Amino acid sequence: MTDLRTLDRTELENLYSRLEKQYLAFKSKNLALNMSRGKPSPDQLELSSGLFDSLDARTNKTADNIDVRNYGGVDGIREAKELFAEIFAVRPSEVIVGGNSSLTMMYDTISRALLKGVRDSELPWGKLPQIKFLCPSPGYDRHFAICEALGIEMIPIDMLDDGPDMDKIEELVRKDDTIKGIWCVPKYSNPGGIIYSDEVVDRLAMMETKAADFKIFWDDAYTVHHLTDNPPHLKNILQACSKAGHADRVFIFASTSKVTFPGSGVAAMAASEANIKFILDQLSVQMIGPDKINQLRHVRFLKNLDHINEHMKKHAKLIKPKFDLVLHELEAQLGDQRIASWSNPKGGYFISLNTLDGCAAEVVKRAAAVGVKLTKAGATFPYGKDPKDRNIRIAPTFPSLAELKMAIDVLCLCVQMVSVEKLLTN
Ligand code: PMP
Repeated sequence: MTDLRTLDRTELENLYSRLEKQYLAFKSKNLALNMSRGKPSPDQLELSSGLFDSLDARTNKTADNIDVRNYGGVDGIREAKELFAEIFAVRPSEVIVGGNSSLTMMYDTISRALLKGVRDSELPWGKLPQIKFLCPSPGYDRHFAICEALGIEMIPIDMLDDGPDMDKIEELVRKDDTIKGIWCVPKYSNPGGIIYSDEVVDRLAMMETKAADFKIFWDDAYTVHHLTDNPPHLKNILQACSKAGHADRVFIFASTSKVTFPGSGVAAMAASEANIKFILDQLSVQMIGPDKINQLRHVRFLKNLDHINEHMKKHAKLIKPKFDLVLHELEAQLGDQRIASWSNPKGGYFISLNTLDGCAAEVVKRAAAVGVKLTKAGATFPYGKDPKDRNIRIAPTFPSLAELKMAIDVLCLCVQMVSVEKLLTN
């Protein structure tokens, strides 16, 4: 294949009729493939079946002799706090271990900020006429959905190779006190696989913000989800914030959703001790205690960070071939054509594909029409609006290798068809 931009009209038309025939052939196969959400595959779930056996009726007490079957312990059991403290590289006193979902913890944290304010707020955020969040994009659609649902205005920020555009962020937060927060997925970002550099972490920690109660929502969802043997390092944001004199600036989140069982994992957050105390006072009105049975079950199964890293290597062994397949096919089918570019992630759950401007929505639509479901085009941007209509999130983990090959063939075909159409109309 050659650079499609160098083809003349007749060559493009000939290519298009060949592509159209292939497309019709896929249509007759009645495919039903789904690459829309980053879910672990059934064989990945099998890796954690030991969770069902890690606790029984005779071993239901924590190290502190607390009976996990009863109410209490709003901040989580001691050994779960120690485990997450190791994962976050913070002190156990800086951790709250919660229920089954970090997304719920994020939603709740923002809801409480709207209703009651955060520790350093003069007024609850919801009492202000308008508040805004910075949204590095492409980013995680469910973060943006929270802002949209709760009436928080979103400001898209370009993602660069080492994190969000810090020049822009610093310029905005310095002068606008209605900007109260920023969403960050700092390691193996969803969907770009970006890892924030030390400089980005330091600048986020140090920057001057007009809002005294500005918060970083540091969603470290993929912190242990490596695809390589030499995982990259991410600078410790809580330490960086403390060192900069802004210890209360950051809320950190993670969960075991894609370590054990999504929906039945354990979620946690970390923050300064002062923030933790403030949050616990509010949380203890919200609930009497989290699911300590699940917490203890997880600690017994996952043990410590070394053991989690070993467990995650088993995940990587199952999903790395899927990432490799997608990357190989993208290169083989689109590599020379100059109509698309894509990420080569070192971890996480996604590959981010950029088509020619103005093509992504049509590619997703066309793939759906032959039974290949992709994440909705635009979903990776605030309000579902990709200004360049070019980003497509590929989630390769759930389908089998055979299904994935078929789905990627369809995707590459649709990218080519829509690109040729675009070139023909230009
Ligand atoms: N954050 C990010 C960046 C994610 O990709 C996901 C899951 N896809 C979540 C949070 C959801 O985590 P949980 O299951 O703990 O709610």
